[in-house]
Amino acid sequence: MRDKFHEECGVVAVFGHPEAANLAYLGLYALQHRGQESAGMCSTNGCDVFCVKEMGYVADIFTPEQLARLPGHIAIGHTRYSTAGSTVLTNAQPFAVACNKGRIAVAHNGNITNAAELRRDLEAEGSIFQASSDTEVILHLVARSRERTLAGALREALLQLEGAFSLVFLAQDRIIVARDPQGFRPLAMGQMELSGGKKSYVFASETCAFDLIGAVYLNEVEPGEMVIVGPEGLTRERYCPEQSKAQCVFEHVYFSRPDSIVFGRSVQESREMLGRLLAREHPADADVVVPLPDSGVAAAIGFAAESGIPFRHGLIRSHYIGRTFIEPSQAIRDFGVKLKLNPVRSLLEGKRVVLVDDSIVRGTTSRKIVRMVRNAGAREVHMRISCPPTISPCFYGVDTPTKRELIAANSTVEETRKFLEADSLGYLSLGGLREAVSDDRQEYCYACYTGNYPTDLVNIEALMTSKDRRGC
Ligand code: AMP
Repeated sequence: MRDKFHEECGVVAVFGHPEAANLAYLGLYALQHRGQESAGMCSTNGCDVFCVKEMGYVADIFTPEQLARLPGHIAIGHTRYSTAGSTVLTNAQPFAVACNKGRIAVAHNGNITNAAELRRDLEAEGSIFQASSDTEVILHLVARSRERTLAGALREALLQLEGAFSLVFLAQDRIIVARDPQGFRPLAMGQMELSGGKKSYVFASETCAFDLIGAVYLNEVEPGEMVIVGPEGLTRERYCPEQSKAQCVFEHVYFSRPDSIVFGRSVQESREMLGRLLAREHPADADVVVPLPDSGVAAAIGFAAESGIPFRHGLIRSHYIGRTFIEPSQAIRDFGVKLKLNPVRSLLEGKRVVLVDDSIVRGTTSRKIVRMVRNAGAREVHMRISCPPTISPCFYGVDTPTKRELIAANSTVEETRKFLEADSLGYLSLGGLREAVSDDRQEYCYACYTGNYPTDLVNIEALMTSKDRRGC
């Protein structure tokens, strides 16, 4: 199967504010959980386009000196996580170029599934690429378009893409944002009032970015929609015919912050409902409900409320783990997990514990935590997971390992329970997950739980890979 860039990212855009870069910086700060490898911003004062991007955390990169290098009333920003190999500064975004459409920059959240084909064709015709990320393909398509306006060129480019993209574009006098026709990744729109009644528009992957800068959430950029904000004001248009939606349900299960509204829905409410339905489907005879911090907290609150079993913070998470530390000698086993989590013995000793988390991927961390809780004196450990077994990788921008590494793709629930050394294990059903996000109109993507991908190319490749695997 093609190389897959696990691009978990966050994007922001600000138009019409004298402190555009400062606001975009704060927006990125609130979106740090969406990507921790690199971050970047571009701004414009109407003439020049300025760019700063670095490896590392948002707060470390954008010092007052760096922010001073980003003047102007328009800015876009990006924070990126990508697995090793493609983690280099050349892949950090935004990408900025000068072309026949002027000076433009783009930042992207998602994964373009036909990027390799597009790139091959473009290279065959002489295009030169600097990075390995699929986002650069978009800039080439825009530059080559015969359309005279940026919006026209962008429309033409977007129609050639397949897969997941929430994009923010910066030009010298405008911002253009767009979402793919199926709306895999979120993109919200907000507004700020400036003195004199003027309006500034902001866009972000999640609304927690708006809260930090005092912007008001207006609505979602719709799947298949392009929003243009320029000196003439704001215009919204569909750039393609309507398609069935495939919003990523994992944004609600794990990826987004619970204080965000994503796809027009409160993430906290979804997660509590996941926990409530999990308690109904897989009740446990237990004394305490303990979340895995932070990923299991909201679902554990729902589980405790539904079951009547008291909620306790039986595992404490250190929030101060640096990016680099020296691994001590092999003799200190499970050091990584211990550094991050420590059990509260007084809450766990002699207790029958329901341990709630959002998902199991490889199972290796969960196994260590079950052991940690048992070593702290728990009498029984019942693992509850607030989504169905993860059986298939994501090709739309969530970092999941290959099928071979996904424990649920290769083991039954009972085999997984044994591996985790838990007394019982229960996953929420697909029906429960649908209900928790009120998906009455089938507007979500569940491919990581079903293996049915909502785009053709990925489906064909997934099928081919599974045939290959059967042949081995
Ligand atoms: P493991 O037991 O090793 O499969 O790890 C499970 C943990 O990984 C859970 O606490 C999840 O919240 C977390 N997790 C799930 N998906 C992701 C992801 N895409 N990126 C980072 N962590 C994840």
